[in-house]
Amino acid sequence: MPTPTAFFQGKFVPLEQAKIGVMTHAFNYGTAVFEGIRGNWNGEQGELYLFRVREHIERLRQSAKIMRLSLRFGDDELVDLVRDLAERNGHREDIYIRPMVYKSSEVVGVRMHDLEDDFLLFATPFGAYLDPEAGARCMTSSWRRVDDNSIPARAKVNGLYVNNALAKTEAQLSGFDEAILLNQDGHVSEGSGENIVLLRHGRLISPAPQDNILEGITLDTALEIAQQELGLEVERRTIDRSELYIADEIFMTGTAAHVTPVVEVDRVPIGDGRPGPVSKRLQQTYFQMITGGLPQYAEWLTPVYRKAPVAAKS
Ligand code: PMP
Repeated sequence: MPTPTAFFQGKFVPLEQAKIGVMTHAFNYGTAVFEGIRGNWNGEQGELYLFRVREHIERLRQSAKIMRLSLRFGDDELVDLVRDLAERNGHREDIYIRPMVYKSSEVVGVRMHDLEDDFLLFATPFGAYLDPEAGARCMTSSWRRVDDNSIPARAKVNGLYVNNALAKTEAQLSGFDEAILLNQDGHVSEGSGENIVLLRHGRLISPAPQDNILEGITLDTALEIAQQELGLEVERRTIDRSELYIADEIFMTGTAAHVTPVVEVDRVPIGDGRPGPVSKRLQQTYFQMITGGLPQYAEWLTPVYRKAPVAAKS
């Protein structure tokens, strides 16, 4: 197995050498933005497929712009660095890659300007985040999703994630798998690390971007394949809390969680309390696609070891 490797201070180094000082601004104030990119292992092909790297890089750049962080690498360079990192780490299992742009100055003082920025990458093995078979039992969190006018909600800001961490811990210590956060006006926003989708009257419904959600790449993917492969209609609108309880199905989407059915909310069974047929079909199609099984979506995949490049989209 190769030495675990990170990209840190402009070069690839052994992960154990990639350390920041205690005075680092980002560590003290959360002044950083990040991404999470999945590498999905296909054992039969001996290939690791990175999922929608370009879209993650684009969102990283947008998060950085909102937060006045500068990113000194171009998109193509970043895509290459991510792939290179994955190859150097040599994993033969599902992984998670973390790009980050952070305030690297070792200085005390709350602000975003007049500080140095840096970029890093690391990778770690990463299995299932929520149980994809059993589905997730969720609770409505007592914590409200951070408002875009407090901390930009569509940016993946490191410091913002204390909001999510509080909600996740409240849910797990209360015996649930995941939290569903409402926004400031009491409408459904998202999970602690996932977007949420309801099925009602045969249509998929998901909160609109102005409901303080993160504009999820897995959500975009799931809604696209739901329309293209399952022929479903999709609606983006504000969702009331009580709609959760009467939905025919609910599922969550996220880089970590993939597509995970929700089987219970606040101890109310969703549908018959088991993963619903639409959620299961969508999940199957999604898993097939991210591991290189659907050539029409090949443009979303970056093969790391380039053993079995999937055919390009026709
Ligand atoms: N919401 C939050 C708060 C998240 O952290 C994530 C994970 N990045 C998502 C939604 C899902 O986004 P994506 O599908 O792009 O991973």
